[in-house]
Amino acid sequence: MITQAIIMAGGLGSRFGGRTEALPKGFIEIEGVPMVERSVRKLIAAGVERIVIGTGHCSESYDALAAKYNGIVVTVKNEDYAQTSSMGTLAVCAPLVSGDCYLLESDLIYDAAGLQVLANDARENVILASGATNSKDEVYLAADKTGRLTKVSKDKSAVPSPAGELTGISKVSKAFLERMTAWYREQLPGSRKADYEHVFEVLSTEETPVFVRCITYYAWAEADDEAMLARAEQEIWPRIKENEELGAVRREVLLNPGPSTTTDSVKYAQVVPDICPRELEFGTLMEQVARDLTALVADPAEYTTVMFGCSGTGADEAMVSSCVPPDGRLLVIDNGSYGARLAKIASVYNIAMDVYKSSAYEPLDLEALEKLFSTKKYTTLAVVYHETTTGLLNPLEKICPLAKRYGMTTICDIVSAYAGMPMDLASLGIDFASATSNKHIGGMAGIGFVICRRTELEKQKDWPMRSYYLNLYDQHRYFEETKQTRFTPPVQTFYALRQAILETRLETVEKRFARFTACWEILVKALKEMGLKMLVPEEFQSHFITAILIPETPRYDFEAMHDFARRAGFTIYPGKLGNIDTFRIANMGDIRPQEMEHFTQILRSYMHGIGVC
Ligand SMILES: *Cc1c(COP(=O)(O)O)cnc(C)c1O
Repeated sequence: MITQAIIMAGGLGSRFGGRTEALPKGFIEIEGVPMVERSVRKLIAAGVERIVIGTGHCSESYDALAAKYNGIVVTVKNEDYAQTSSMGTLAVCAPLVSGDCYLLESDLIYDAAGLQVLANDARENVILASGATNSKDEVYLAADKTGRLTKVSKDKSAVPSPAGELTGISKVSKAFLERMTAWYREQLPGSRKADYEHVFEVLSTEETPVFVRCITYYAWAEADDEAMLARAEQEIWPRIKENEELGAVRREVLLNPGPSTTTDSVKYAQVVPDICPRELEFGTLMEQVARDLTALVADPAEYTTVMFGCSGTGADEAMVSSCVPPDGRLLVIDNGSYGARLAKIASVYNIAMDVYKSSAYEPLDLEALEKLFSTKKYTTLAVVYHETTTGLLNPLEKICPLAKRYGMTTICDIVSAYAGMPMDLASLGIDFASATSNKHIGGMAGIGFVICRRTELEKQKDWPMRSYYLNLYDQHRYFEETKQTRFTPPVQTFYALRQAILETRLETVEKRFARFTACWEILVKALKEMGLKMLVPEEFQSHFITAILIPETPRYDFEAMHDFARRAGFTIYPGKLGNIDTFRIANMGDIRPQEMEHFTQILRSYMHGIGVC
């Protein structure tokens, strides 16, 4: 898997004349997006988590781009850019990558499939080439029978039967990159003007092979002057767009409370070469995923994430069955189906327990809770952060610190809040928190995890196991020792989760919450206009789910409404609370405000049809 990239963007772009005086070439826009930004997006969608841009001319534009893709794009300036060529820029970038990487020029538009071709090529150093472009600025590549690069030239007569034309997209190993840099430095203080492809040629012929991988009809273009730009826009860009359409997955917007709508890049991240999960490479991936999952809500020095192949309820079960001491007593707060589920799990394991029941749509009575806590009967408190049944958000910031003051361990189901809203487990007073890969984080279903305060987890070391598969401490200890899970993990789901985390970091949880809130506001406004009532008062709602009371007309039929919405690409979910009938609209995953706007029109149209509005 290639997770890093270098974009060489030091060039002057002088062939564009005035247009690139104040703007680097990479910032020339095609259909409203700068070429280099589109390239950054494609790299991220392909799983790249670190992009180093080597800058020179007008470096401020790239610095602004790095700020926009904060944490993923970094820039480094080639101070000598006016005197050096691309190799000078590459040499300043090289120390900033730590493994195999893509190497790209800055002024390209290209079909992202090219990145997959390189990633899937088993050889280490590979140049992506195409058939004849007739672009008038061709760089021809010659190769021997094995595909090994033997010559690079702009002069067609020097390469009479080319193996392909240079596209400006390659992949190289870290070792080869270091060798390129070393070779370049050995030439100094001689000519500093070396093109990176020239160094490819020298090293490939003299020591380490660089292979040419030609895709004859590959859609790509470079824009070095006005004529090339016109060709890129008019001939190549439509082909790239068409290829993207061929690869797009039909969009279904899931308004049900999980699993949530995923991006295509998350869907495609699952398509990877087969790998045994006991390989170190996969262990390292899981370790990074666990660390990133922790870092979204806590300091990894203080908390650690223990993962299982299971749904969110599996994570709940691991937490409940593992976290109550052998002679302990659990208090469960039940103000909705998920609280009731925690109690049910505890009863299955015969854990000594009491249940505190409270209304599903009114806030908890904190005084009554404190009275219970002060009896000192309980070692452990279990509570749900966001009750997905109703959309009620429980004030854990008050409840958990209070429970901790009475010496209790707090175990919280944060399944439908995690990665949807900013939170910090330590300041919330949460010791253990369960969540899943397929709600706000936007991955595929299949990984349940518990984020554990390390000191609390350590206390479980000698406790007898209540569950074999779902034991937290055993899973943790084995992973720490081996970088493996005890049993087969959902391999492809991990790759998707890695991508979902990358996309979450890119958006940030703060902005994600703002996006969900924007969707929720659109929904609430429309509901009011239609005269529909919500179960929970607005101020206690999470913004993640809205439970709506069904209209009082015999013409209402959930199935008919569901099918009507489904035909428009929206999936909705019923919800029954005792004898109160509702339907529920969730804001989770990759949902956009304009889609919620569209959905409200569909809903309005259905409600109008049955005479509600
Ligand atoms: C979705 C959810 C779960 C887990 O449900 P699964 O179907 O097992 O993934 C648990 N708790 C809450 C609050 C949830 O919203």
